[in-house]
Amino acid sequence: MKRRIIEIDENKCNGCGACAAACHEGAIAMVDGKARLMRDDYCDGFGDCLPHCPTGAAQVPNCCFHPLHLDWLQLQSFHFAQLRNT
Ligand code: SF4
Repeated sequence: MKRRIIEIDENKCNGCGACAAACHEGAIAMVDGKARLMRDDYCDGFGDCLPHCPTGAAQVPNCCFHPLHLDWLQLQSFHFAQLRNT
């Protein structure tokens, strides 16, 4: 089974940094104003960054997220952030 990780389309990336801030694994960094996957071995493919990307530049190939899934992912991100702060 092939492991899924995110891909970032630099042409769509506006450099907002939201994906890097949302990545709990620290796999994404901003380089020259664009998001870049720095450590593919850190990416768990869970997609915490996806709902934060306003342009659709961050994608997990072969993974079709329904808008309700994105709501769920945002809820999970919030939940994990809360756990981390307790
Ligand atoms: S959230 Fe999307 S637009 Fe913003 S830096 Fe990340 S990939 Fe680029």
